[in-house]
Amino acid sequence: MRPFVYEQPTDISAAVAIASRFTTEDDQPTRANAQFIAGGTNLADYMKLGVAEPNRLVDLNRLKDPGLRQIRVTDEGIRFGALARMGEAADHAELKRGYPVIADSLRLAASGQIRNMASLAGNVLQRTRCEYFRETSWHCNKRVPGSGCAAMEGFNRQHAVLGGSDACIATYHGDFAQALIALDAVVHAEGSRGARKIPLAKLHRQPRDTPEIETDLAADEIITAIEVPAVPWARRSLYLKIRDRESYAFALASAAVALDLDGDNVREARIALGGVATVPWRAKAAEEALQGKTLDEASAGAAADAAFAGAEPRQHNAFKIELGKRTLVRALLETRDMKV
Ligand code: SF4
Repeated sequence: MRPFVYEQPTDISAAVAIASRFTTEDDQPTRANAQFIAGGTNLADYMKLGVAEPNRLVDLNRLKDPGLRQIRVTDEGIRFGALARMGEAADHAELKRGYPVIADSLRLAASGQIRNMASLAGNVLQRTRCEYFRETSWHCNKRVPGSGCAAMEGFNRQHAVLGGSDACIATYHGDFAQALIALDAVVHAEGSRGARKIPLAKLHRQPRDTPEIETDLAADEIITAIEVPAVPWARRSLYLKIRDRESYAFALASAAVALDLDGDNVREARIALGGVATVPWRAKAAEEALQGKTLDEASAGAAADAAFAGAEPRQHNAFKIELGKRTLVRALLETRDMKV
């Protein structure tokens, strides 16, 4: 592993200042010389593998602001401090009751040990587990821009069918971000240019011809909080995750669904898909297909068709299209039938 300087600032402005001093205008957060670390469950792995090689780590765990570690549930919604741990949110009684899609997405992610360590903001920003990205002997445009993509002609069963490009088809493997998108969550970020809010659905970038740029954040920007409004469809929500085995596995296909119903008629739907796309994927076409319709197997099927209309399969991952559609249909019908 490359040697690095380890810093432990105690306030956000100091953390931003360090990152700002050691990055340039062109640095992307994932390739910058100075990188932030919280739980370390993703970055430490990639440093050991030689995939990430920051020369300065800015540890956020000594930041004094107590709000960074709190989960507050009020009549206005939820405010997740960025450093709150996944496990804490997964076990939170009010989240289980009022925001099941969020509690489900965290409970079904990773192992108990990882959930106890990983921060919520870090979870949202986790990097792909594409096998070719993780192994430095393969060509990978995300790790080394312009070097090629070994997954295109390689074994691409785990790869994305939505949102890919000729440069990269790596899947976004998280779960929590999809649940947040289904509830119209907003990220609060702070950097050298000040504080700003970013809708979760706009935080991640599709690879296009720059797969090394994964989010809209600047290299010196820190996520400080994630806010979820108290939308009327929060209670009638769930996260369905389909994987190769029942635990400690990433999704082959998943769906975060939240519904505002009038009887069986859809007033409003929110749908985000996982396991099938390069980013946490808001399925707007599916939401629009359901608007004002009676939710039954036929309308759910039509919404699923709309969600995957633009899917582009590769040699080994075409099964994800049918699996993704069935996952979404089941998630929609199960959400409709929830007793709230
Ligand atoms: Fe790299 Fe993306 Fe290709 Fe995987 S799919 S090898 S991450 S460029």
